[in-house]
Amino acid sequence: MFTRKRKFYTPFLSVILILVLFVVMSSSNIINIHRTTSSSTNSPSASYQRPNTNPGISVSRGTDPYENRQAFKNKLVVIDPGHGGDDSGADANGLLEKDIVLDISFRLNTILQRSGISTYLTRTEDKFIGINDRFRAANSKNASIIISIHCDWFDDTSHNGTSTLYYTSSNKQTGKLNDKEYAQIIQDELVKILGTSNRGILRRTDLGVLKYSKMPSALAELGFLSNKHDAELLASDSFRQKAALGLSRGIKKALINLE
Ligand SMILES: [Zn+2]
Repeated sequence: MFTRKRKFYTPFLSVILILVLFVVMSSSNIINIHRTTSSSTNSPSASYQRPNTNPGISVSRGTDPYENRQAFKNKLVVIDPGHGGDDSGADANGLLEKDIVLDISFRLNTILQRSGISTYLTRTEDKFIGINDRFRAANSKNASIIISIHCDWFDDTSHNGTSTLYYTSSNKQTGKLNDKEYAQIIQDELVKILGTSNRGILRRTDLGVLKYSKMPSALAELGFLSNKHDAELLASDSFRQKAALGLSRGIKKALINLE
């Protein structure tokens, strides 16, 4: 009798014990059913988190001063990569201005779009675009703001640093922000993140893209290709990404100021 009873109870108790162990381990995440399931079915949410690894692109909209989805609604940013095609722009230290500014423009475009900002690039390939086509594109699309992206060059190779050019300190046809104020915002954000020498904002009355665009416009001269140190920076991936981030922050601040 004793032997038979034992044969019956031992497997039964073992099953109960295994079940109890399973419940305890599940609740303490030792067997993490939920985590396994969610990572296999929610991969889009995992990729959405990715911008978090990029400094400055925060997904917590409430605390980031550069994020304001309401202010970004119904806005269009025109990104104008300088030069292109036969017009290489500055050519020094083995680098061509047209290539650098196109790469940085693509990076800027990605950052702005991730924040829900509509964009338009005046060129997306190595192609010549006349000055008229640049500001006309911005005007015909009723852009909120335009940023033109360039690198500097000078005979004296000791010249280095970052500057931002603007046309007027008066308000243009559209926008509550004037060019000078907009250029200052861009310049401050660029110098803050790039650590380059601050050449300040400069008034230029001879640049069509600034003069004839109806909305706030600024032209960023990120660094001097003719200067060895600046050229090394401009050749690097990290500097280009920082430049794009600085530009995006300036543009976002400017869009908030347009409200
Ligand atoms: Zn240029």
